[in-house]
Amino acid sequence: MKKLIIFNWKMAPDSLKEAKRFFNAVLDFKSYIINSEIVITPPFVYLNEFKNKKLKNLKLGAQDVFWENAGAYTGEISAKMLKNSGVEYVIVGHSERRKYLNETDEIINKKVLAGLKAGLKVILCVGEDLLIRRHGKKAAENFIKKQLEKDLKGIRSLVVSRKLLVRNFTIAYEPIWAIGAGHSDTPQDAVEIIKYIKNLLAARYSLNSIRVLYGGSVDSKNAANFLKHPEIDGALVGHSSLKAEEVKKMILLTNSYFTI
Ligand code: PEP
Repeated sequence: MKKLIIFNWKMAPDSLKEAKRFFNAVLDFKSYIINSEIVITPPFVYLNEFKNKKLKNLKLGAQDVFWENAGAYTGEISAKMLKNSGVEYVIVGHSERRKYLNETDEIINKKVLAGLKAGLKVILCVGEDLLIRRHGKKAAENFIKKQLEKDLKGIRSLVVSRKLLVRNFTIAYEPIWAIGAGHSDTPQDAVEIIKYIKNLLAARYSLNSIRVLYGGSVDSKNAANFLKHPEIDGALVGHSSLKAEEVKKMILLTNSYFTI
């Protein structure tokens, strides 16, 4: 299976000029995107600029979406607007939005369902904080199980085929304490938790073969340690996304870990 790498620009860069420079740096490297699917998620304001620059394995994603299709919702962006801007993927429930925007699991649930209904490919972020992880992996798994119960409420009754759901739904396991920290989780622990998530999705939601990514301080030095595991279907990369050399090295790496 192709590895899926999401390069999340977060709230950067400050200008369109810089955004174009970053995007072009990835485009320069397009011939190396062979056995992977690469997704760039710039801030909303730059999306339209890159609409026509997408390629077969280089896709555009958004960092958030609102749950209503239309109406008086000042400041919000609908799934349809995203689709019209060439967006294929959307990140939902990132821990930074849970923390700074007070996004609850109920809100995230509405966004997951709205994104999927609109035909966007949803990447749902889940993961525990340090306080929980200090109690061990089992505590982290229990926390994620509860998050998923709330974030995926109603997913079974979505009027989309199972096949489409499997293709359009991805989880990013992102231990909060590893995000932007400069130190990742250990690949062994990430594999164990990702296996747990996959088993849970299959048993509880009949969702087999859902892709689960790892996110949290992934860079070109440690990416291979995660991607070499067949259980880890890719990575969600934050800070290293805005370093052209880092991005190139990670894209190159993905070609070595293609699994059939
Ligand atoms: C993220 O933005 O989800 C992330 C994992 O960031 P970083 O790679 O900087 O830890």
